[in-house]
Amino acid sequence: MGKNAVKRQILEYLICPECLPAESGLRLENFRSRDEEIIEGRLECPRCAKAYPIIDGIACLEIGPQETLAPSDVGPSTSAYESPEVLSTYLWTHYADLFGDPDVTQAYSRWAAQFAPTSGAALDTGCATGRFSFEMSAKCDLVIGVDASMSFVATARRIMRERKLSFTIKEEGLIHSEKSFILPPEWNPAKVEFVVADAEALPFRSNSFACVASLNVIDKTARPLEHIREACRTARPDNAQLLLSDPFSWSEKICAPENWLGGAPNGKFTGAGMENVAHLLSAPNQPAGPAWTIARRGAVWWKIRNHRNHFELIRSLFIKAQR
Ligand SMILES: [Zn+2]
Repeated sequence: MGKNAVKRQILEYLICPECLPAESGLRLENFRSRDEEIIEGRLECPRCAKAYPIIDGIACLEIGPQETLAPSDVGPSTSAYESPEVLSTYLWTHYADLFGDPDVTQAYSRWAAQFAPTSGAALDTGCATGRFSFEMSAKCDLVIGVDASMSFVATARRIMRERKLSFTIKEEGLIHSEKSFILPPEWNPAKVEFVVADAEALPFRSNSFACVASLNVIDKTARPLEHIREACRTARPDNAQLLLSDPFSWSEKICAPENWLGGAPNGKFTGAGMENVAHLLSAPNQPAGPAWTIARRGAVWWKIRNHRNHFELIRSLFIKAQR
């Protein structure tokens, strides 16, 4: 595998997120490659002429004004998800079981257990530092993780290349300790790729994925209904599995109350978000493609660690659906 290059096999899935709902394939231009992987280059849309950069192996397919970001640029940022402290927090949540930390929950293996092994590709929306994508590599032929955070995707790709990582976590005040982990042998990073993209405008062709996951993303997006529509659009019309899980922690800072899918005092999505999402998926006029059958509903405990003695415990309610 190349040192820092995007896997060429994902290119056939990609379309221009700016042109959605039109599906315009992207042309690879000005690229530097090694074997089946692309190190640098541009993905150009012939329809709207927007060019999406590939920087150090990271394809950046976000909508909105073009930014010129490099992984080394992720210092002080407007997004909370780009700060080193938040990165460390997510790495702990994703991987602490691999270094034997007794305080972490088993959320990711419990979510992964919801998927039956299948041929075809999986999509992990809001993949953060990649834990769930790696888990899915044991169940599918190819896994694509997407996240809007350059720093998360750069870190996930580093774990993908090296199969291991050392990072520091806060113990107390200014005292930190170093933690290291190695991916278990049953996970196959050669089947995994990560790209930067928006959960509400997924840069993938319709009907592409055998498995689609949205884990703790719904309440983190400004347009949750669009995100669910995109998850449904990119899933195959049949023989597909979908896992949506969320604590429904609606926040006016992230999403205007009129766009919430639950917890609203009035409007279409009053009441519990979990019920509304289940109804959306199984309704005949559901977001995109054929209606889903709800196979299972449940909850997993998910934990964030702020320091040695400070944790946030979150109950994420899940729906496993198939069609
Ligand atoms: Zn376009």
